[in-house]
Amino acid sequence: MKNLSINKNNHNLKSGHIKKCQICGNKKLMKIIDLGNQPPCDSILDKKNQREFKYPLNFLFCKNCFLGQIDYVVPPKKLFFKKYPYRSGITKTLVEKLYSTSEMAKKKLKFSSNSLCIDIGSNDGTLLKGFKRFNFKVLGIEPTNIAKIANEDGIETIQAFFDILIAKKIRLSYGPAKVVTATNVFAHVPNLCSLIEGIKIIIDQKGVFISESHYLVDLIKTVQYDSIYHEHLKYYSLHSLIQLFKYYDLEVFDVELIKNYGGSIRVYTGNKGEYRIKKSVTDCLNQEKKFFDKSNQRLNDFRKNVVANRKEIVNIIDRYKSKGKKVVGIGCPGRCSTFLNYCEINSEKIDYIAEQKTSLKLNKFLPGMKIPIIDEKVMLNDQPELTIILSWHYHKEIIKILRKKGLKSKVLIPLPKIKII
Ligand SMILES: [Zn+2]
Repeated sequence: MKNLSINKNNHNLKSGHIKKCQICGNKKLMKIIDLGNQPPCDSILDKKNQREFKYPLNFLFCKNCFLGQIDYVVPPKKLFFKKYPYRSGITKTLVEKLYSTSEMAKKKLKFSSNSLCIDIGSNDGTLLKGFKRFNFKVLGIEPTNIAKIANEDGIETIQAFFDILIAKKIRLSYGPAKVVTATNVFAHVPNLCSLIEGIKIIIDQKGVFISESHYLVDLIKTVQYDSIYHEHLKYYSLHSLIQLFKYYDLEVFDVELIKNYGGSIRVYTGNKGEYRIKKSVTDCLNQEKKFFDKSNQRLNDFRKNVVANRKEIVNIIDRYKSKGKKVVGIGCPGRCSTFLNYCEINSEKIDYIAEQKTSLKLNKFLPGMKIPIIDEKVMLNDQPELTIILSWHYHKEIIKILRKKGLKSKVLIPLPKIKII
């Protein structure tokens, strides 16, 4: 891996087109697939005819640092952060997975009780509840209104974007943190330099920063093109994470590949020289070198598989619709927006998307394709001929619940391979 001359301030991205690798500055990026012009996936519409903005969604790969990335930053004010309608505590599987962060930290690292753990982008505080069980003092930082839910739930949370300024205030009021966590934040923020500099301010010299990000290798292997969207700027491999931390004198000393969100990478990072680098790191690096070999075969196969997946899904839906049958989507995670918009599945193909009655997206419309999102009880009443599970990475759990509630419809699982059950 070449150390290209990038000023780490370049890690703070400006809105608009990005012309070089977001981490190492490499200008020759390989284009993997163009997913078309798309609306930001969480910009749920209040009204069907509401005006919306679309931006290019290209997926690229850097052969120098093995970072997957998109090449456009949507202006932050066009992303509806305050309304962000996602709560991590909702699915049982996800709660269990978020608890695994604290379980592994407890098992692997030594901390005295009452150590401070700070979670950046803490959502409704689920991950911190895991640490609280092990007598950690916990603090969340969350920019959206979901911070209120966490506070009401007894997890102290500051509602703010995390940056150097807020980091300095936290250090003064709370002291150094022994553990800092960030799950699915690292891939999403455009100002990575400020984020990491901020983390360096709040963390103890011997503290550990644990980050979890969607894993590029799993994305490629299991054709998860639905996880590519504007808010998700970077798709990490271990190579790219190590390269990134180098700029800040931080060192990855342990790595785990975990199942969250269809495959994630959890890395343990400390100040340079503080921790012995484990074999897990060299093993994972070797596997990545084999995976991303010079032939680019894996990346080319990915592109072919995406195109084939779209064709087959649309064919299946058209077959049902041509016989006058009803097709309905189940669940509306952010990632389903890329899938439905890329496949051009609109409200003529899918009658509606069924969501749990607790969902904040209820009675709104999917951006782009403008499919109505409605209470799942309508679907249970309709018993449509075909349903498509859009939160496919939790399909087992969701199908079990819906069958219990009386759903008799056929269920199509769109990825990684199309399956109807
Ligand atoms: Zn790069």
